[in-house]
Amino acid sequence: MLRFRSLGSGSTGNATLVEATSGGRTSRLLIDCGFGLRQLDARLARVGLAACDIDAVFITHEHGDHIGCARALSRRDRIPVWMSEGTWLAAGGRDFEGRLNLARDGASIEIGDIVVQPFTVPHDAREPLQLRCSDGVRSLGVLTDLGHATPHVLARLMGLDALLLEFNHDSDMLAGSTYPPFLKLRVGGNYGHLSNAAAAAIAQAVHHDGLRHVLAAHLSEQNNRPDIVRRAMAEALGASEHEMLTANAAEGSPWLDL
Ligand SMILES: [Zn+2]
Ligand SMILES: [Zn+2]
Repeated sequence: MLRFRSLGSGSTGNATLVEATSGGRTSRLLIDCGFGLRQLDARLARVGLAACDIDAVFITHEHGDHIGCARALSRRDRIPVWMSEGTWLAAGGRDFEGRLNLARDGASIEIGDIVVQPFTVPHDAREPLQLRCSDGVRSLGVLTDLGHATPHVLARLMGLDALLLEFNHDSDMLAGSTYPPFLKLRVGGNYGHLSNAAAAAIAQAVHHDGLRHVLAAHLSEQNNRPDIVRRAMAEALGASEHEMLTANAAEGSPWLDL
């Protein structure tokens, strides 16, 4: 069985747990750990886990809300870490005591029973990767921090059972915000973050009868609202607003089974 949950998502920090269980064995992957070590420990404890229960960490890119405590966590609990070479270099090329593994677009990684397929996305980081995870039966897509959908991205999201997808901002709220002009351009640009409309278009493009869950994530606290996101999702997926799920910064989301 494959399941996942957000431990918290937003511009202040992101972490997602993916868990595969088969034959009495459980494999756990943490995607991003954009919190301080103590905060991550507290969030894991809330779901009955400790850092030592994690088999590997995958860091999508070097921004602080994703890489967070990766190095401290890896060193303290001897956990292997995966990231692209560009992400590692952009984060200072620091020593991981032999536990760093380099990931690249198209090269599958096995974390116990979880097969991870990283793919390149357009975002203002050095070599960002987002992921498709599978236990051989079900598949989950994790897609945050991208400026726009490319054919490459969409191809990696076909036939999913679940998708965690960035709904970063409402374009009108961003335009009317107190953000300085350069930041509005950065966030709304081709290498920034997805607007609700752009995310809804992705959800619609990859939607099929087998897609059980779409979890909206990385919502801007200043330039978005969960109710606006749920409306955009419901329209895109032809479902009720009440069924739409959004991850938040404080709590993340419940476990979602695939
Ligand atoms: Zn981010
Ligand atoms: Zn980012």
